[in-house]
Amino acid sequence: MIDELQKLVRKHWGHPAFRPLQEDAMRAVIERRDSLLVLPTGGGKSLCYQAPAVLLGGTTVVISPLISLMKDQVDGLQACGIPAVQIDSSLSPSERFAYEQDVRDGAVRLLFVSPERLMNPDFCNLCRQAQVKTFAIDEAHCISHWGHDFRPEYRMLSRIKEIFPGSSVHGYTATATQQVRDDICKQLALTNPLVLVGNFDRPNLTYRVLRRSDVERQILDILARHKGEAGIIYCLRRRDVDDTAAMLKMSGHKVMPYHAGMEPHERKRVQEAFINEECDLIVATVAFGMGIDRSNIRFIIHASMPKSVEHYQQETGRAGRDGLEAECVLLHSGQDVMTWQAILQKSAQENDVSPEFLPGALKHLNDMDQYARGAVCRHRALVGYFGQAYAEPSCAACDICLGDVEVVPAALVIAQKILSCVARVNERYGVGHVISVVRGEQTERVKSLQHDQLSTFGLLKEHSKQVIRDWIFQLIGQGVLVQTQDEYPILKLNLASWEVMKGKQKINLVQPVHKEKSGSVKQSKADVTSWEGVERNLFEMLRAWRFELAKQTGKPPYVIFSDETLRQLARVRPSNSEKLRYVYGIGDAKLRTYGSMVLSIIREYCEEHGVSMENDSAPAPDPAPRAAKQMNATRALAIQLFRQGSAIEDVMHQTGRSRSTVLDYLCDYIRLDKPASIETWVAKDLYERIAAAVKQHGAGRLKPIFLALSAKVSYDEIRVVMAHLSPGA
Ligand code: ADP
Ligand code: ZN
Repeated sequence: MIDELQKLVRKHWGHPAFRPLQEDAMRAVIERRDSLLVLPTGGGKSLCYQAPAVLLGGTTVVISPLISLMKDQVDGLQACGIPAVQIDSSLSPSERFAYEQDVRDGAVRLLFVSPERLMNPDFCNLCRQAQVKTFAIDEAHCISHWGHDFRPEYRMLSRIKEIFPGSSVHGYTATATQQVRDDICKQLALTNPLVLVGNFDRPNLTYRVLRRSDVERQILDILARHKGEAGIIYCLRRRDVDDTAAMLKMSGHKVMPYHAGMEPHERKRVQEAFINEECDLIVATVAFGMGIDRSNIRFIIHASMPKSVEHYQQETGRAGRDGLEAECVLLHSGQDVMTWQAILQKSAQENDVSPEFLPGALKHLNDMDQYARGAVCRHRALVGYFGQAYAEPSCAACDICLGDVEVVPAALVIAQKILSCVARVNERYGVGHVISVVRGEQTERVKSLQHDQLSTFGLLKEHSKQVIRDWIFQLIGQGVLVQTQDEYPILKLNLASWEVMKGKQKINLVQPVHKEKSGSVKQSKADVTSWEGVERNLFEMLRAWRFELAKQTGKPPYVIFSDETLRQLARVRPSNSEKLRYVYGIGDAKLRTYGSMVLSIIREYCEEHGVSMENDSAPAPDPAPRAAKQMNATRALAIQLFRQGSAIEDVMHQTGRSRSTVLDYLCDYIRLDKPASIETWVAKDLYERIAAAVKQHGAGRLKPIFLALSAKVSYDEIRVVMAHLSPGA
């Protein structure tokens, strides 16, 4: 079954393998077990209902909150040669009638509708006539009022299981919190659902956090390293959107503003211009983004801090959906917290909200502030916030790990000074007062409390307020100091604080180094590898061709080919359609439609510029977003089992993990132990054939080896053999 699925995915979508959890999620659909799949944006959720829909036949109904989201998917599916339609209010009666007839005839694999329409009795009848048994709910968190995007109309979906007895329901979301997940299962009335939660890390994103100083200069510097690329600048207020857009126009950037105060048709125009790549730079409030599926967004700038880490994750998540490198820069200042506090308080007063609203919102705000001021790896901090562990010691893709900030040499002593000051003022004062005391400020308050008499008075007088404030929040972030959650939060100590004061706990404090200029920032690994071997000018030519074609056909460019496909084309430069077939993202339908055009562009370019074709030695790009491997108990168990010579299927059974995960473990085991023979898993003659191909084509890439063996062995087998051939760990 899974083999068939894999073939089908290769044929229609051109993806060589599944991403983490996709196989398990698809199996749930095929086996008709209710399920909830939680993957970050760009993780590949849609394939998990699309591919099974094709395999199962019949019609799968997909519920989606926005017409634009449906349209993107329908376009994408049709481009891959899969019959998909959406029924919405924009259809004429005759169109609708024709579509409905197609559905009754069983000619439609995927049918997209809004929740309101699904619950309409006529539509329910249509589903019954077409014997629909599978329902996929996109953006499933919209059903929960705990989520950040509650939609009352989603509540109606709780009746699907009742209206269509015997059907299976599958939810998909990027929302990470446990509370929302549980609520989704409950609200959808799922029966014994399989809940799959993916890794929330986005390794291809580089996160940077800068204190906002000269915001114009800072934004221009960031834009300077993203020339010709797509990005969004988020501002807090409409006024800031207009000001920033005007400033950028003045400095020669092509930019469009977007906020909820604009006329609907204006907003639509901006969205379309961005999606169609007519405009690459948008300055917007957070109103912009939902329903924007453009996959090649290369940077997101937050000109001020969002109100929660969830929002931050969501907004930055729009970058790099194609798995290629992207940068997310957060510019923040203490002012942002105060602005948000005022906005939240006002909205709590004006709207009839529940009493939990304000404390909850302030807590989210505080968490975000802590993230911004934190001194730990940003990848680690983000996945940690969503309850996941980060296995790597360094991400090599954030300001902290790339060394944008400088480690403070005497961190422990500074921490001890701050903590003892908190102790001396009897843990009864807030951040501002503690700063005044350690800086030795002779304010009225300090004098009247006689805090200028304390032994800790003036211990850090050579440092600025701002720097000390940052350090205090870094200490809070490291859990050695506590800020209460009251209206007037005060600083308190905990057990860890005393360990620090005794010098028994390590402390890490950072401060920014002054090198925010465009040229001087370091590149992440993804920045470097994703362009390796790519003939840039050819990439730009292919991009221009895609743009023209998109205009002619009225489809968004990324529906034609993703940037990753274009980069691979410009890297490998295939000379015939057989080779083209093995490029990422090219399935049968796209090969037929675009193959000859692409080949002639590549050939012409290579001839004109004297560039070689068939660049098979080009290094493969990093595989698209892939969960960081974790040294966890399951992996240890799997390795143990392989040591005992267990078969792959046995290990899958015993660990409950998918085939692809178990194969990863097998490769790990082989690299680790270097067993003399791996005959148990790969037959001897096959091993020898693969080894010979590796010898001939080098171990840089799988594809040439795959081709050399006439595509008759699986990538998995090649991977396993290569693990065995690789030099010792
Ligand atoms: P999500 O809905 O989780 O945000 P999408 O379904 O839009 O993510 O997928 C994001 C991108 O990943 C798309 O460009 C899609 O074609 C690509 N993708 C999905 N599955 C795979 C796969 N197995 N291999 C390679 N690319 C994939
Ligand atoms: Zn890091």
